[in-house]
Amino acid sequence: MTINKTRVVVIGAGAAGILCAKKLSENGFSVTVLEAKAFVGGRAHTIQPEGFSYPIETGAEFIHGDLPITKSLVKEAGLSLIKVEGQSWHRHNGQLSTSQYFIKEWDLLMEKLQALKHDISIGEFLEKEFSDSRFDALRRSVIAFVEGYDAASVSRASAFALREEWLNEDFDAQYRIEGGYSKLMNYLKMECEKNSVSFSFSEEVKEIQWDKNQVLVRTKSDKVYESEKVIITIPIGVLQAKDTIVFKPEIKDRFEAIQKLGYGSVVKFLIEFKEKFWESNDPFNDGVGLKKLGFFFSDASIPTWWTQYPVNSALFTGWLAGPKAEEYKFKSQEEGLAEAVKALAYIFGYTEEVIRSKIKAWKIVNWTEDIYSKGAYTYATVEAPQARKQLIKPVNDIIYFAGEGLFEGPEGGTVEAAFGSGLKVVNELKA
Ligand SMILES: Cc1cc2nc3c(=O)[nH]c(=O)nc-3n(C[C@H](O)[C@H](O)[C@H](O)COP(=O)(O)OP(=O)(O)OC[C@H]3O[C@@H](n4cnc5c(N)ncnc54)[C@H](O)[C@@H]3O)c2cc1C
Repeated sequence: MTINKTRVVVIGAGAAGILCAKKLSENGFSVTVLEAKAFVGGRAHTIQPEGFSYPIETGAEFIHGDLPITKSLVKEAGLSLIKVEGQSWHRHNGQLSTSQYFIKEWDLLMEKLQALKHDISIGEFLEKEFSDSRFDALRRSVIAFVEGYDAASVSRASAFALREEWLNEDFDAQYRIEGGYSKLMNYLKMECEKNSVSFSFSEEVKEIQWDKNQVLVRTKSDKVYESEKVIITIPIGVLQAKDTIVFKPEIKDRFEAIQKLGYGSVVKFLIEFKEKFWESNDPFNDGVGLKKLGFFFSDASIPTWWTQYPVNSALFTGWLAGPKAEEYKFKSQEEGLAEAVKALAYIFGYTEEVIRSKIKAWKIVNWTEDIYSKGAYTYATVEAPQARKQLIKPVNDIIYFAGEGLFEGPEGGTVEAAFGSGLKVVNELKA
């Protein structure tokens, strides 16, 4: 290990912060991590509440493709990956089918997107190219996908970024980490501790006072941490809220840039049933047993659901994202369950009472109400590339920003993006 006396405070112990801390400590920096919650992992957090038979992912769950940093860390940690398999089913207008999401006009959509010379929002693009009523189904599908997958608002999401995403998406390769993402995060924490990284949990940072020689980071409990550098990895949604952290002196241009990024909402509905009832050839279920059910897409109020297939588990996870998840604010857990039961009754063709009678355990996680996340993940707006460029420039080689929202590659909004952004800052500090 090289000796480097530089002291660095890392704010936030999510994927970006914890990997920064690990790598910097390996490079001999003296690292302190300040985390508002009581645990590492941030938006990648696995729990096992009472009643559940196995751990559940409250936030990140999948590795969306053969992503190099995540996969190499999983290997280093000695963890196993489970390839996501199974069939996709749909229920639209009451009809159960295995048909594809983007029906016949997909090629035309991509052709028009590729011909686009200047970036506009995907909403504006649809209006311009596909406003005719014969494209109603296509418009509905695009909007459902942008809101549901990217947790984005169509009026702000960049058509260029979506074009890039849809051209490069490897729809086949998806994985889960056996035992959950927290296993990986806890491994990274353990490695940090081996290198004497100091962790302070339940420490919410409120103020950063800085000049060219020194940074003073003040927390809600009025403790002050002194360092030469500070890396801020807290979520974009938290930074977009007014006065989360007061900077003295202010860094106005960075905060103007933060407002230009898109940040979406997600509500996750985790329901464990007494058995995998969807596998039975029940007459209510149109006589179709969904034995290999993976994903279920629908026009229900909670539209997307998935099983843990091929793992033998009766967990069924619902997903509500984008503007509809934002509207969901302040609903109680019970109200959430009622909505989920209604959606599942429609999807499976049972009564709500029957669905309720099959439930073993349940939990609803609304990320917009999490005060240290204030939403789920970023999405690219038309202004995002410029804003990100501004944000990844260190302020006087003292203040650095990292996290999923600052990653410039195609995997935006993911754990891989958070890791990648953390590594970029580590390389800058090494130079
Ligand atoms: C519901 C959901 C599902 C997702 N699904 C996937 C998926 O399947 N695959 C995937 O790759 N990604 C997924 N993501 C995205 C992924 O979780 C994030 O991109 C990634 O975990 C972000 O890491 P980060 O380090 O940038 O931020 P975070 O993990 O949010 O870490 C930031 C940390 O800062 C802390 N903090 C906040 N404010 C303060 C403060 N004032 N002082 C001190 N600490 C503070 C927070 O508590 C947090 O621990 C999902 C996210 C959500 C919410």
